[in-house]
Amino acid sequence: MNGPLIELDGVSRSFSVGGGLFMRKRPLHAVSGVSLAIGRGESLALVGESGCGKSTLARLMIGLLEPSAGAIRLDGKTLAAHGRHAVARRIQPVFQDPYSSLNPRKTVGAIIGLPLDVQGGADGAQRRRQVEAMMEHVGLARRLYHNYPNQLSGGQRQRVAIARALITHPEIVVCDEPTSALDVSVQSQILNLLQDLRRELGLTYVFISHNLAVVEHIATRVAVMYLGRIVEEAATGALFRAPRHPYTRALLDSVLTPEPGLGVPDTHLGAAYPDPVNPPPGCAFHPRCSAALVQCRRDRPSLAGDDRARVACHLYVSSRSGLTRRTS
Ligand code: SF4
Repeated sequence: MNGPLIELDGVSRSFSVGGGLFMRKRPLHAVSGVSLAIGRGESLALVGESGCGKSTLARLMIGLLEPSAGAIRLDGKTLAAHGRHAVARRIQPVFQDPYSSLNPRKTVGAIIGLPLDVQGGADGAQRRRQVEAMMEHVGLARRLYHNYPNQLSGGQRQRVAIARALITHPEIVVCDEPTSALDVSVQSQILNLLQDLRRELGLTYVFISHNLAVVEHIATRVAVMYLGRIVEEAATGALFRAPRHPYTRALLDSVLTPEPGLGVPDTHLGAAYPDPVNPPPGCAFHPRCSAALVQCRRDRPSLAGDDRARVACHLYVSSRSGLTRRTS
């Protein structure tokens, strides 16, 4: 089928936060008006600081949350129209922390085979063959079939999580910081495994990471998020070679935190990340932007550009030849 495999059309999601004896609950717009189209076989990375909305977007894409506004379409049909089971068969997550995402009371075989049990149809012997074949595919020895998660290393646990995600042959895998809880020595093994699996199985990835070195290695395209919105989107090589948005440039200049899993690049932007419940007017990045214009405090820039590259910044205008920087 032509057209995007999965498409987000003006997707927003808000939550009510706060509240108490003398305080009213207030809306937190975690994701605001996000539009994205992801083609079959692509690997799209969502990057940004903690709290920018990338994990909420991931949960929307796997159907764990429903949009407050807008629509998510898989092969042109909304997730709701596909139904929960069909979505789960076609889109699977791999979460950050393999320690908490695996049931400690279940064996490796039971964990990996659970999606098959939910789907039904695989008898005992057939189920075991499928699970063992998938274990081999992700580099887990068959002898670990009866082991429990606490008997495995961090890398082995993440391989179990990947095998569980792939056992029903999904088309899309949403990876939410899949290596950030692992030792540095194991991270590259898991990244290489994910790369190999994408090639071998023709998978489409949505890859969430604060680690730009990881993103450059695994993504074909990058979408940069700031305070719930996409502020820049481009092919990975182009974005790393010539970032346009001042926030993207700050991220690329950033020194990543040495604490795994914390997810906060040190952007050296001076001003702190704004309160998402009370975002700045105009361009939400303007309090931290050294290039801010008067207009930036007043008007929110819309995402301009085309399929090649998009940016939400008053410094750029869209023309037939692409995005060009304003001269005045
Ligand atoms: Fe900076 Fe203005 Fe561009 Fe926002 S719109 S990133 S404040 S220059």
